[in-house]
Amino acid sequence: MSVLIAPKTTVFEATSAACRASGAINLGQGFPDGCGPLAVREAAARAVIDGPHHYPPMAGLPELRVAVADHYARHLGLAIEPMDGVTVTSGATEALACAIFALVEPGDAVVIIEPAYDAYAPLVRRAGGVVRAIEVRPPDWRIDRQELARAAEGARLLIVNDPVNPCGTRLHADDRAALADAVLANDAWLLCDEVWEWVLDPGVAHASMLADARLAARTVKVGSAGKIFALTGWKVGWLCAAPALGARLRAVHQFLTFTTPPSLQMAVARGLADDAGWLAAMRAEIAGRRARLAAGLREAGYAVLPSDATWFLNVDLAASGVAMDDAAFNARLIADHGVAGIPVSAFYENDGPRHILRLCHAKAAATLDAAVARLGAAL
Ligand code: PMP
Ligand code: GLN
Repeated sequence: MSVLIAPKTTVFEATSAACRASGAINLGQGFPDGCGPLAVREAAARAVIDGPHHYPPMAGLPELRVAVADHYARHLGLAIEPMDGVTVTSGATEALACAIFALVEPGDAVVIIEPAYDAYAPLVRRAGGVVRAIEVRPPDWRIDRQELARAAEGARLLIVNDPVNPCGTRLHADDRAALADAVLANDAWLLCDEVWEWVLDPGVAHASMLADARLAARTVKVGSAGKIFALTGWKVGWLCAAPALGARLRAVHQFLTFTTPPSLQMAVARGLADDAGWLAAMRAEIAGRRARLAAGLREAGYAVLPSDATWFLNVDLAASGVAMDDAAFNARLIADHGVAGIPVSAFYENDGPRHILRLCHAKAAATLDAAVARLGAAL
């Protein structure tokens, strides 16, 4: 029997379950301490009481589609058609599934860049596609243009994540150029998972590949309110694409979830329409938390890899003097030291490096300090 999605629990769920069972500090699954902007939560509460309560339009509440398009016009200079170009989904996870199921036919080759977010390869296989993975390596995680060009030959779709989970970094302009060339040379589609677009150090600007006019008709951009507003459980995401491509995406979305709770859509629309204060404060806080965890870990003897985006940073276990592989070390951390990360080897289809541990820094200072003490004791 062929198994298109392996019957195994994701590393995030397994790690959080182990932390819940043991009381370990969870720097594994990516979710922040805190609960997002008050105004957005109040808007949701109001909408739960006053409505809308019933099925919103399949593509999303018009208020949210307009707010998403306006947000990207304002911040990234993108011209996205709100009514036909934006489709609201139940989190970025559903958006990824929609795009992959809409664009990949059985036998199609799909390029992913490893370490890759864990949903990509299983969804591609479920669509009948063939995964072609290229690898990027620490500390720079740069794409090799030749390797990419070889993997992309004849490919139907390239999937790219920027900023990059689990690397905690952003694509370099040369990486984006190599990807654009590979997409155009193969007449392929491009799926840009940009959920971390706002989780960047202050002063750092995100560059969306949807801004490249040559790619506009063939690119799907994925976003998530879970990351923008630090509300991971809300599962409000979206797909942005040119209208003709948007119609293909909706043809799948209508049979996956059809729609997403309207109260949450309304609240996210309000949040996006008035986002400046929250985004600036969030970015300053993230930079502080990242710096605190990195400094504590260095002091404790860990080799910390550079990062400037996402809620994650990585430590090089081998360079920190750890002889075990990442998964074994993480299991020991949970069992013996009461703290958890995520082994980066979980982000590879086949063999990847086994000496990198991802840690989530989006936590209160006291949690980070306690985690550092426990991690330090494990060296
Ligand atoms: N893509 C990436 C790269 C992610 O890191 C995540 C969640 N951390 C998702 C997609 C899924 O986002 P959502 O929770 O909105 O489904
Ligand atoms: N994206 C989150 C992470 O990287 C986890 C999301 C999930 O658990 N599926 O930690």
